[in-house]
Amino acid sequence: MRAWQLHDTTGPDAFSLDEVPTPEPGPGEVRVALRVVALNHLDLWVSRGLPAPDRLPHIAGADGAGIVDAVGDGVTTVAMGDEVIVNPSLSCGLCPACLAGDIVFCRSYGILGEHRPGTLAEAVVVPARNVAPKPAGLDWETAGSFGLATGTAFRMLRRGRLGAGDVLLVVGVGGGVSSAAVVLGRAMGARVFVTSRSPDKVAWALDHGAEAGFDSAGEFAKELKAAAGRPADVVVENVGPATWGQSVRAAGPGGRIVVCGSTSGPKVELSMPVLFFKQLEVVGSTMFTFGEFADVVDLVASGAVRPPVDRVYDFTDLPEALARLDAGEQLGKVALRIG
Ligand SMILES: [Zn+2]
Repeated sequence: MRAWQLHDTTGPDAFSLDEVPTPEPGPGEVRVALRVVALNHLDLWVSRGLPAPDRLPHIAGADGAGIVDAVGDGVTTVAMGDEVIVNPSLSCGLCPACLAGDIVFCRSYGILGEHRPGTLAEAVVVPARNVAPKPAGLDWETAGSFGLATGTAFRMLRRGRLGAGDVLLVVGVGGGVSSAAVVLGRAMGARVFVTSRSPDKVAWALDHGAEAGFDSAGEFAKELKAAAGRPADVVVENVGPATWGQSVRAAGPGGRIVVCGSTSGPKVELSMPVLFFKQLEVVGSTMFTFGEFADVVDLVASGAVRPPVDRVYDFTDLPEALARLDAGEQLGKVALRIG
């Protein structure tokens, strides 16, 4: 099969399209012949050795959807020919955290394409529990691309206890997680507001149910309060130091600021009096559980949520697709079509 492999960790140019042996599923595993796969910032980080793969060459890629074409011993829940979506959350399945369903706290928690060969290939082998049935009628482009980002956004909103009628502010809209947060927030009945430095991305959010959008580089806390009539109940913050001050100001008393990334740098300042007088919660979040993934698949299957796909490239055009992601030009997911 063809696979995009990393032979070193010098950056996105280190991917090469190679002919490699097609992997065989072991006990409890299935092989998925992939139809559409999608990129995440994780793939860029792994290409730069952050974190370095355990072994080289390495196949990155966390998201994909396709058709099961080989089934390992002992697999009873998945059959040959099933159309499936790959769930990239990996865990041991045996420890107390896993048995409680909190796989994100598993000590051996990992992500497909980071901790084992991923989806930037014509086929991937995963544990049988890491595939979910593709909803009938869902297009392959959406099926193959929403998993990691939409699952991550869903857990963030759940941890932020987003409720119907709440004011949700999504800071720095455009990427997979933040654009998913917009459509999920609307589906959950929240009033959604966004920030971006790109007028096109703000316009996209307005088209997808946001009430108003503001410039990420401006004083968006004031603008939010003027537009919404009150501050935010939940702020989705993945930008970090460039927007953090405004995000904290935008959160109202008892507000929750939920963070799953920090694209503008690793450190922020936090005023302790603001934290305790406003009784804010700063909530870290990463990835999602099997239960949360199932909930997200159900939301997509019902049609209540349609996570955006930015652009679909041919499988051979990975370098162009990665460049678009690296430049932050995308609105939603950047995907690759196989075959
Ligand atoms: Zn575990």
